Amino acid sequence: MNNRQLFLSHLAQTTDFPLMIEIEKAEGVFLYGSNGEKYMDLISGIGVSNIGHRHPNVLAAIHDQLDKYLHLMVYGEYVQQPQTLLAQALVNTLPDSLNNVYLVNSGSEAIEGALKLAKRFNNRREIISCVDAYHGSSHGALSVGGNELFKRAYRPLLPGIRNINYGAIEQLEHITTDTSAIILETIQGEAGVRIADKEYFMALREKCNQTGTLLIMDEVQTGFGRTGKFWAFEHFNIVPDIVVCAKGMGGGMPIGAFVTSKKIMDVFKENPLLGHITTFGGHPVSAAASLATIQTITEGNLIEQVEEKATMFKRLLVHPKIKEIRSKGLMMAVAFDSFEVLKPIIDRCIDNGVITDWFLYCDNAMRIAPPLTINFEEIQEACQCILQSINED
Ligand code: PMP
Repeated sequence: MNNRQLFLSHLAQTTDFPLMIEIEKAEGVFLYGSNGEKYMDLISGIGVSNIGHRHPNVLAAIHDQLDKYLHLMVYGEYVQQPQTLLAQALVNTLPDSLNNVYLVNSGSEAIEGALKLAKRFNNRREIISCVDAYHGSSHGALSVGGNELFKRAYRPLLPGIRNINYGAIEQLEHITTDTSAIILETIQGEAGVRIADKEYFMALREKCNQTGTLLIMDEVQTGFGRTGKFWAFEHFNIVPDIVVCAKGMGGGMPIGAFVTSKKIMDVFKENPLLGHITTFGGHPVSAAASLATIQTITEGNLIEQVEEKATMFKRLLVHPKIKEIRSKGLMMAVAFDSFEVLKPIIDRCIDNGVITDWFLYCDNAMRIAPPLTINFEEIQEACQCILQSINED
């Protein structure tokens, strides 16, 4: 059996359409196949490789940590430098009130931790989430997800959860003094890049203040510079009570976090058995990689160039078949009439050397979320390839 056959027989598949490209190496914006093919990566692991694949700073930090130790538990055990420095660096990217970091392994786990923390903090049991939200695939994260099709097979899920429409000010009235928390993606990712306006976020913050409801913002897909600010909530002039992050945080290594005030986080201390506990959360090697990632983003001019790069994509991607481009920075959805129109275009893009896909809940839009390190020449090349792939029809 060759590698592809082994892949299909022994490795669980979650889609009928696995991309059957065997990757040998990744570097910067490019992936290299085992038959010598070269692909430009316009997905970056859905916002993971924001600073490009195998960034030298990340590799150096990993190597450095490998020489010291691989795993020691953080929670309840040893004081360690990688996690401590990471927490400090992460807090420095955030408003003052968000100053306490819980490190975990993934976005879904960070969502679990945030939901548990909210319940512990105000002892309320109702949680509000949004229609078309995607927060991960564990039971808790699925419960606050907003797509019935994805939830149906796993019911009963967590009780006390109600979906409201993202961006609809009039529906904020469902937030009451019984609501423990509202959780939402700052910009809805898997719904195909849906962006609420500033007024909505101001009204949301106000309503949470009035009712004592915690505002949990999921920045798993939008964080770490993706939208042209370090955090997407910065576009809307509000500060959440809990921020959830993962993906781009590790520069390619698995790590996530939920961050809040010390006052809120300290409720986990009241009885440690009821807090969140994780064996691998904040793994030292991932933490070292994450610290290097944050330093690379904050010390370079990556974020400053995001808007200009996004503008170039939008300027070049003009075609009668492109119906709309929804975007914030380099988080973009390029909409076509239907999946039937889009799918062959995506297939041809891949044949022509550009990797892209569609969204979990929005299959008529092409995902464009390249490493933020993509340069202007590469953007030109990517857009030419997309337009050529549309025209090859
Ligand atoms: N929240 C959002 C907004 C996401 O996009 C994702 C992953 N696509 C998650 C949470 C879950 O993250 P993970 O896959 O690391 O569990």
